[in-house]
Amino acid sequence: MQNTEPKIELNTEPKIVYRFKQALYINLTNRCPNACVFCLKTKFAMRFENYNLNLCGREPSSEEVLEEIYKGIKEAPIKEVVFCGYGEPTMRLNVLLEVAKTLKEKMAKGELAKFKIRLNTMGMGNLVYGRDITSELAQVLDSINISINSPDEEEWKSIVRPQKEYAKDGYKSVLNFIKQASAKIDDVVVSIVDKQGIDAKKTEELAKSLGAKFYLREYIDAKK
Ligand code: SF4
Repeated sequence: MQNTEPKIELNTEPKIVYRFKQALYINLTNRCPNACVFCLKTKFAMRFENYNLNLCGREPSSEEVLEEIYKGIKEAPIKEVVFCGYGEPTMRLNVLLEVAKTLKEKMAKGELAKFKIRLNTMGMGNLVYGRDITSELAQVLDSINISINSPDEEEWKSIVRPQKEYAKDGYKSVLNFIKQASAKIDDVVVSIVDKQGIDAKKTEELAKSLGAKFYLREYIDAKK
């Protein structure tokens, strides 16, 4: 049988910063309080394109991340830096804030050409930290994309499969995060994957009622 998996050497150095289209994606951690059924890190065995994103528990410092970003910018111009994963970036909130703040300061001083800074998140950061983190994020980010995965709490639980301690208040926390972030940042986007059974229209209405935009993401199947 023909192997259709992307080619990669599994012993290649894990990437903490990787290029995709005209952006640099930042892989701060592989940790996440969820275990989503759609998670690409499990579907693609910690690989994305030709990159190995398995940090094997060694999470990078802000200095290491910045060094890799500067290298990436030197190689080719970028339009965006995205805190993404494989893992939930807000699990390393301090590093995320420090890296984004440094980049903003360098752009303001003209030491770096301008680009946007975005966070992709599952939206439970306020619950994880027990405080509203959106004010801190709003100071250093241009946009936030929140994967809500469902407009219904029970369906959300079955898709996202949060750790036990986040199951009771997780969904309410995500809704509150969207509302708080939308009040502070212009570009807040709520997304679901385009998959049969998930109500896109209802999710769009929910996103708009919370002050956010809506985006229907392509469903990516590793077997494609
Ligand atoms: S929130 Fe993101 S990283 Fe975490 S399990 Fe879901 S898809 Fe994977």
